[in-house]
Amino acid sequence: MIEDFKFIKPGEVRVRIAPAPTGLLHIGTARTALFNYLFAKKNQGSFILRIEDTDIERIDPRAEKDIMENLKWLGIEWTEGPDIGGEYGPYRQSQRLEIYAKYLEKLLAEDKAYYCFCSEEELEAEKQYKMSIGEPPRYSGKCAQLSKEEVQKRLAEGQPSIIRFRVPAKKVEFEDLIRGKIEFDASLIGDIVIAKDLATPLYNFAVVIDDFEMKISHVIRGEDHISNTPKQILIQEALGFPRPIYAHLPLILGPDRTKLSKRHGAIAISEYKKRGYLPEALVNFMAFLGWNPGTEREIYSMASLIKEFSLERVQKGGAIFNIKRLDFLNGFYIRQKSIEKLTELCLPYLIEAGLIEPVFKEESKVSELPTAFFGTEIVQKYEIAETKEEISLEFLRKIISIYQERLKKLSEISELTDFFFKDKLDYDKELLRWKEMTDEEIRSSLDKLEKILSRIKTEDWTKENLENILMPEAEKMADRGMLLWPLRAALTGKEASAGPFEIAEILGKEKTIKRIKEARGLIK
Ligand code: GLU
Repeated sequence: MIEDFKFIKPGEVRVRIAPAPTGLLHIGTARTALFNYLFAKKNQGSFILRIEDTDIERIDPRAEKDIMENLKWLGIEWTEGPDIGGEYGPYRQSQRLEIYAKYLEKLLAEDKAYYCFCSEEELEAEKQYKMSIGEPPRYSGKCAQLSKEEVQKRLAEGQPSIIRFRVPAKKVEFEDLIRGKIEFDASLIGDIVIAKDLATPLYNFAVVIDDFEMKISHVIRGEDHISNTPKQILIQEALGFPRPIYAHLPLILGPDRTKLSKRHGAIAISEYKKRGYLPEALVNFMAFLGWNPGTEREIYSMASLIKEFSLERVQKGGAIFNIKRLDFLNGFYIRQKSIEKLTELCLPYLIEAGLIEPVFKEESKVSELPTAFFGTEIVQKYEIAETKEEISLEFLRKIISIYQERLKKLSEISELTDFFFKDKLDYDKELLRWKEMTDEEIRSSLDKLEKILSRIKTEDWTKENLENILMPEAEKMADRGMLLWPLRAALTGKEASAGPFEIAEILGKEKTIKRIKEARGLIK
């Protein structure tokens, strides 16, 4: 009996995330990476990044960089990987072909694997036939008994071939840390293809070699791989490798309990980032996709997750993806940010929306810069894009501060605050009407506002003073909305916004009065 890794000491825990670079990092892989990372950290173990790039046709050249960048952005950092190396490298499968060839040759020499010369058409016809008579579509074993000489002859002739593993007809049993005992009847699968040729191993084979060579103690991966596990165990046994401990994470499902799709929010992590989600929120959110602490507590930082996480608390059933929960968490983490930090985070969105512009110290650098917060080392100043008026970070911080409470995603900032950066607002005059107010009443409210506000000195232009002066006036009216609504609407051109006094304070006296006059102009 082959020893397995049952008695691993904490420091010896070695886990991995093994993405195929076929697309951008998505939520499923990120969740698997997070669970591996948490498990490694909790056990003072190692977390390895391995790039499974053997399927050359499916490789997306942007993927590897995207996967690494976004894992890092989430704070999921590996201790060994293609970029930083490590004791068991290389960490890209395409750079490990000689290692696989060695083991393929060993299996062939021991007759545990063999060359198969059946053509694709032949195999397809066989599969169709088996299915039509209700049998599992397994390989017939036609090439399993070819003599050594026959194989040599056909190889020498250059007949196309693949390499199959002789799957023993036996029951495979393994203990999954999440799903318990799993049994599988290997006689149902037939001899599986493990390589196209000596230099082209396939997933189920390469993964076994790598997990062994990299001393992986626990394989924690999505449930979609569960049917691969018995195949991998049989290959391990044929090579005399120890068996890692398996833990298959539940699938992520949409709220309608179907497989998570784009429609539900299965978008790339980079897209979440672009939409203004914070890494803290995504990490907190993803941790609950299959795990829960068993208490009411919902807010978990990475550090507290490391402390609390355990595979025992990972559920078997599908994990429901609820975007509202992510929005809630994101709002929470946005509110935790200092205003300075939140302003930095919001600036790229204001720039991208064309509301403000950074003016760089060195013009030449501009085109190379990604949209990001530009530090004071390279930015000379910020300007309002439309008017080229210089704006201070202080001014921006004030704006951000009055929206911190209601912001759920950073990307919302431009739509919420665009009126601060526009010279002239474009809205329908009906917006100025509070309830049943007549035109005459709106006109009189606006006139009154202009008169009162003009008398306030610039140095007294604070939201407290504005409130102290305007509120009593508003209370005098039949309904205070009759004064406050037209004021807020005139300043923002919006149905909803932060309060009128804080907005007026930030806009300053001159712009506030200008906007009231413009509103007045709309009511003939
Ligand atoms: N390359 C596989 C994937 O991306 C890895 C599966 C595994 O963890 O073994 O799904």
